[in-house]
Amino acid sequence: MLTQAPRGTRDVLPADSYRWQFIESKMRAAAALAGYREVRTPVFEHTELFLRGVGDTTDIVQKEMYTFEDKGKRSVTLKPEGTAGAVRCFLEHNLYAEPLPCKMYYLNAPIFRYENPQSGRLREHHQFGMECFGAREATADAELILTAYHLLQDLGIGNLSVEINSIGCPNCRPVYHARLKEYLSGRMNKLCATCRERFDRNPLRVLDCKEKQCQELTKDAPSMLDLLCDECREHFEQLKGCLDQAGIPYRVNARIVRGLDYYTKTVFELVTRTEDGNLTVCGGGRYDNLVEQIGEQSIPAVGFGMGLERVLMLMDSEGIEIPKPTWYEVFVTYMGENRPAAFALVQQMRKAGIRADLDHCGRSLKAQFKYANKTGAPITAVIGDEEAANGTVKLKRMADGEEKTVAVADVCEAVKEMNS
Ligand code: ATP
Ligand code: MG
Repeated sequence: MLTQAPRGTRDVLPADSYRWQFIESKMRAAAALAGYREVRTPVFEHTELFLRGVGDTTDIVQKEMYTFEDKGKRSVTLKPEGTAGAVRCFLEHNLYAEPLPCKMYYLNAPIFRYENPQSGRLREHHQFGMECFGAREATADAELILTAYHLLQDLGIGNLSVEINSIGCPNCRPVYHARLKEYLSGRMNKLCATCRERFDRNPLRVLDCKEKQCQELTKDAPSMLDLLCDECREHFEQLKGCLDQAGIPYRVNARIVRGLDYYTKTVFELVTRTEDGNLTVCGGGRYDNLVEQIGEQSIPAVGFGMGLERVLMLMDSEGIEIPKPTWYEVFVTYMGENRPAAFALVQQMRKAGIRADLDHCGRSLKAQFKYANKTGAPITAVIGDEEAANGTVKLKRMADGEEKTVAVADVCEAVKEMNS
C-alpha cells in the first residue's frame, strides 16, 4: 500500500521525464506560434463550477468527478477537464474587458476522472489545451484544428484523421433532438443500457456510443447537418473552407458529438487508428454559451484538449524516437583523499555551465569509473594522486578513449573543446 501509487495514476521517472519535456516544448512552441499565452489555474475548483460548466448530464459529472468536502465544509472538485477553470479565470479577472480575442493555453494540467483504468485511460492524466475567447468567426475554429494537427504531425504521429461535425446551436438543435428521439424511440429495446438512459438526458450521445449494436442502429439516424439553421450552416461551410485552403485532410463525421453539454456549432476530434481500434488524442469544439452560463457576459469561445499520455503512447507505438539528452557532460572520479579537490572541480565546472558530478557514495576508484560509464557521461575526469600533486586533471573522452591532462584552471575550456 505504502509503496504503491493509487490505481489509475502514473509516475514519470527521472530517466523518462525528458520525453515529457520534449512534447511540452513542442506544445508551447505551437501555441506561441498562434498567439496563445499560458494560463495556470488551480487544480481544484468549486464543485458548482463543473456542475454548471460541464453539465450534469455528462459522464464526467454523473460518475467521474473527484469531489470532496474540505474542512470548511465547501464542496470542491479536482479538475475533470480544463475549460471550465479557464472560463472562470477569464471571468474573474475581467479579461473580457481587454481587447478580444483572449487566447490562452494550459500545459500539463492534471485532470482527474474516476474512470475504469485501462490502456489510454487513467484516473489522473494531463492535458494540453488551447482556448480562444471572444472570436465568433470560423477562422478561430480552423486555427485551433490546424495547430493541433500540425503539432501532432510535427511530433511524427502519422495516421491522423481530423473528424469534424457541427452540432448546431440552441436554435436548431432542439428540432434535431426531437427528430433523433423520434427515430430512437421505436428502437429503444435495441439500444445498450447506457444509451437507454442517455435517451432522455442527452440523446446526441447515443451517436458516439462505442457499442456495436448502437452504432448499427444509428447508421440511418437523421443527421444534425441536415437541420442546421442558416447561421450554423454558414459557419460550418466557412470552417470547411479554411481547412480546404490549408490543405489538410479531414472528414465530416456526424457521429462526433463530444461528451460535454456545452458545445455549439463546431466539434472535432483528432483520431489515430491503431491496432486496437481508434484512439482520440485531441478533442474540442465551440462553446458559445458556456461563458454566459457561468458568468453574465455573452462571449463566444472555442477550444480543445489534448491528452499528453495519449500523445506519448502513440509516439511509443509508432516507434518515434525522442532525442535523449546526455545526463552529465563530465563525471569526476577521484582517489578517496582527493574528494575535496574533486568537489571543488565539480563546482568550478557547474559555475561554467557544465553539467558535472562526482561520486557521493564512497565508491572505490574502479567502481566510480564503472558508474561514470553507466551515466553515459561523454567525458570522465580523473584526479589521482599524481594529478592532485601537480594541480592537474586527466580528461578521458569515452567515445574514442582520447586522453588529455590539463591544469585545473584550464579544465572547462578543455572539456568544451573535447565535447565539441
Ligand atoms: P473518451 O471518449 O476517450 O473518454 P473524452 O471525450 O472523455 O474521451 P475529452 O474530455 O475530450 O475526452 O479529453 C480530451 C483528451 O484528453 C482526450 O482526447 C484524450 O486524449 C485525453 N483523455 C481523456 N480522458 C482520459 C483518461 N482517462 N486518461 C488519459 N487521457 C484521457
Ligand atoms: Mg471520457
